[in-house]
Parts: sequence; structure tokens; C-alpha cells
Amino acid sequence: MNNKKMTWTPEEFRFKLFNKKVCPLCSGKLKHHIKKVYVGKERGPNSTLLRDTDQYFDWYYCENCSRDYSISDLVKLKMEYEK
Ligand SMILES: [Zn+2]
Repeated sequence: MNNKKMTWTPEEFRFKLFNKKVCPLCSGKLKHHIKKVYVGKERGPNSTLLRDTDQYFDWYYCENCSRDYSISDLVKLKMEYEK
């Protein structure tokens, strides 16, 4: 069993909890999915042993535009709109 790691910036976490996930281009509904990336050997939360570790990322897919956005893309785009 590999370690599972999920990390968000505070902005990303707030976005994940409170914001409606819509496509920045067409305002269509986005489909949430998870991407797994192998990051190498790291120490687990309850152990000093190095174990294979996968990091999990939130991604959002728009079927209308056939575009995939990471949560950090969406947060960046949102902050640009609000300037
Ligand atoms: Zn779209």
C-alpha cells in the first residue's frame, strides 16, 4: 500500500469547499475527478519508514470544451476575474 498524500493551498481549500465549480470559458458544469501522481519515497504520517507515495490532485473536466482544469488553474482564473 502506498502512502496517499493530498495537499491544498488555503485558497484551493476554500475554493474546494465553497465555490461552485463552473467552466471559466463556457460556465458549464465541471466534472470532478482525481489524478494520482507518484512523487517518490516519503515518510508516512505514523511511521519513520520511507514508503512509495502518491499525491492526489483535484481536477475538473468540462465536457463542452473538452478541457481539463486543475484546482490551482481554477483558483488562478477566478482571482484574475475578481481583479
Ligand atoms: Zn467549458
